Amino acid sequence: MAVAVDIAVRRIHVTNPATGEVLRDFECADAAQVQGCVNRARAAQPGWQATSLKQRLAILGKFQQLLNDRKQHVANLVTSETGKPVAEALLTEILVVLDTARFLLKESYEFLKEQPVPHGGLATRTKKGRLLREPYGVIGIISPWNYPFSIPACEALAALVTGNAVVLKPSELTPLSALELGSLLRDAGVPGNAFQVVIGDGVTGAALVESGIDKLVFTGSVATGKRIAQMAAARLLPVVLELGGKDPMIVLEDADVDVVSSGAVWGAFVNAGQTCLSVERCYVHKSIYENFLSACVEKIRQLRVGNGMDAETDIGPLIHERQLRILEEHIEDALSRGARLLTGGERLKSIGSNFYAPTVLADVNHQMRIMREETFGPVLPVMAFDSDAEAVRLANDSEYGLAASVWTRDRARGEQIARQIQAGTVMINDAVSCFGISEAPHGGVKASGIGRTHGRLGLEEMVRIKYIDSDLLPGVKKPWWYGYGPNLTKAVEGFLDFQFARGLTARIKGALRSSGLVTRTRR
Ligand code: NAD
Repeated sequence: MAVAVDIAVRRIHVTNPATGEVLRDFECADAAQVQGCVNRARAAQPGWQATSLKQRLAILGKFQQLLNDRKQHVANLVTSETGKPVAEALLTEILVVLDTARFLLKESYEFLKEQPVPHGGLATRTKKGRLLREPYGVIGIISPWNYPFSIPACEALAALVTGNAVVLKPSELTPLSALELGSLLRDAGVPGNAFQVVIGDGVTGAALVESGIDKLVFTGSVATGKRIAQMAAARLLPVVLELGGKDPMIVLEDADVDVVSSGAVWGAFVNAGQTCLSVERCYVHKSIYENFLSACVEKIRQLRVGNGMDAETDIGPLIHERQLRILEEHIEDALSRGARLLTGGERLKSIGSNFYAPTVLADVNHQMRIMREETFGPVLPVMAFDSDAEAVRLANDSEYGLAASVWTRDRARGEQIARQIQAGTVMINDAVSCFGISEAPHGGVKASGIGRTHGRLGLEEMVRIKYIDSDLLPGVKKPWWYGYGPNLTKAVEGFLDFQFARGLTARIKGALRSSGLVTRTRR
C-alpha cells in the first residue's frame, strides 16, 4: 500500500511503491486551513495580476531554466513516490512541463492581446467592440497521482501566466512532486501566496471546492469528477473536469505489424498502464491479428519490471494495492468469460508487493469488464475485427471518450476513421504522446470530462471573457430610445427590409420607407 489515511487524525504517509519505504508523513489540511490558503491567495492575486505580462513571462523563463537545471532531482523525486522509471519521469513529467513553458512564453502575448470585434450589422457600425481576457482570480487545482508533476504544473503555469493565483491540492499519494513544483515557482519569483500547495485527501479536496475559489481544474476519476460536478453546480463554480479514459487503439490490415506492436506495447504499459491516455482496448484487423499478438508477446517478454530508480527498468510498480486488485479483478473476469492469456497474469512478488507482470489477453469482448471499465494497469486486451465500420462501432461502444488511436499506412483512411470516433483526441499512428504536444488541447468527451487543458484552449479556460463596447457617437441620441409609434414602426420595418429582404426592389423600397420619403407601400 503506497499510502495510508488514518481517518481519526487524517494523516497521510507518502510511501515509495517500489520499496514500501515511508518517505514522509503529513497531516491533512482541514477546511479552515484550506480557507486560509484561499484567502491568502485572494489577497495576493491583484498584485500578481498587476505585474506586467513581461514580468510574469520573465519568471516563467526562470522557472523553465531552474527546472531544467534540477531535472535529475525532480525526476528522482517523482520516481520515489510513483515508482515510474526515471527516464519516463524525464520524458512525461519534465519535458512536457519545459515544453509547456516554451509554448506559454511564445503564445501568451498574442493570447492576452485585446481583440477587436468588428461589427457587421448596419445598426451597430457606430460602435466599436473589444474582447478582453481577464484572470478568474483564484484557481483551485486538484490533481491525481499518476503524473504528479506534469499535470498540475502545466495547469498552474497557464493559470499563473494569465494572472491568476493558484491553490493546488495534489493527490494524497504523491504530494512531494507538488511541493517541489511550489519550490521551483517560488525560486523563480512567483510570490508565495500566489501559488500554494495544500496537502490532504479527498476531504481536503472537497474543502477546496467549497472554499469560494473562482474556478476549479480537476483531474481524476469519473466517480470523483461527478461528485465534484454536483458540489460545483450548487455554487455555479466553473469547472474543468479531466477524467478517466478507456482509449481504443484500432489497427487496420495495412499497418506495419512490427511498428504497431511496439506502439501498442508502449501505449499500454507506459507508467505501468496507469495513464489516462493508455491503450486500454486494442482492436486489430483479423488478417493480422495473430501476427500482431505474437509480436506483442515477444516484445513484452523483453521488458524489465523493477524499481524505477534502476536505469534498466522499463516498467515500475503499481501505485497501490487497490489498483492491483482492480487489475486482477478485470483479468479474472475476462479469463472466466473466455479470454486467452498470452503472457503475464500474475503478481511479481519476488521483487515487491506492488509489481505485476505485463499481460496480454486475446479474444476479449465487450461483455468483459476489461473492455468496459478503466483498468489502469499493465494489461493489453486485444480483440479482432472485420471491417472499418465494426472497428468504429466497437471504439464508440464506451461511456468514455478521452482519446483514441488509428494505425494504418493510409493516412487519409486513418483520418476518415478518426472523424467517426467519439473522443477528445484521435492520434493516427501514435498513442499517448498527444499529452506532450503543448499546442494541442487535452480533454475528453462523454464521461471523460468537460473542458480542456493545454494549448490555446487550455489558456481560454483560465480567463474570463469581457466584452467592451464603445459608442462612437456619444452626442447622438439613438432612434430606438422610445418614441414608439407608427412612424418608428414603419421606419424599423423599412430598415429591416433594407437589410434583410431578398431582391433589389424590396430593398430599395425598404430604404425609402426607413428614410421617411415613402410612407405607404402597396403589397
Ligand atoms: P481520484 O478521483 O481518486 O482523485 C483525484 C484527486 O481528487 C485527488 O487529489 C483526491 O484527493 C481528490 N479527491 C478525492 N475525492 C474528492 C472529493 N470528494 N472532493 C474533492 N477532491 C477529491 O483519482 P486518482 O486515483 O488520483 O487518479 C486516477 C484517475 O485520474 C484515473 O481515472 C485517470 O484516468 C484519471 N486521470 C485523468 C487524466 C486526464 O487528463 N483526463 C489525467 C490523469 C489521470
